[in-house]
Amino acid sequence: MEQNAKIVSADLAALRVIRYPDPRLMEICTALDVVDDSLRAFVERMGELMFTGRGVGLAAPQVGVTVRLFVASPTFTPEDRRVYINPRIVSAEGKQDGDEGCLSFPEITCRVKRHETVTIRAQDLAGRWFEETASELTARIFEHEMDHLDGRLLVDRMGTVAKLANRRALNELREKYEEAN
Ligand SMILES: [Zn+2]
Repeated sequence: MEQNAKIVSADLAALRVIRYPDPRLMEICTALDVVDDSLRAFVERMGELMFTGRGVGLAAPQVGVTVRLFVASPTFTPEDRRVYINPRIVSAEGKQDGDEGCLSFPEITCRVKRHETVTIRAQDLAGRWFEETASELTARIFEHEMDHLDGRLLVDRMGTVAKLANRRALNELREKYEEAN
């Protein structure tokens, strides 16, 4: 298989944020072989889609490309756009409980328990490995986006109460998806 075939074959201009229950959101994403210009262009486009969608994080499977990569901007500013290629969590400690949303679940927020402090290891746009330790919102983003790379979604993190509270919104998403496909 060609290196980064999923990236090379992606039509950047046509990329859109896809929504639950699109099956691409449930896939386990594949690692990226090389950090090159096509990957950098893809990341650029993902950043645009994240800011247009008013999100603080966006994982590649959310634009239908099932590779291990996400972008984030905890402060929601373009200068603070961060990229994590082939990321993995190396340590996580403490606990936080707070509201969480997702661009693939518009208009849904629910309480999700996450670790308070998370250390992630990933490659940057030059292909260099780095480690970053973050707390609060950024730690929450790390764990939320890592979930995406393993096909785990907000709905999988909902408790019984949250599922009931969001039942209508979830049903509407399923109906819209069925109509469009
Ligand atoms: Zn999400």
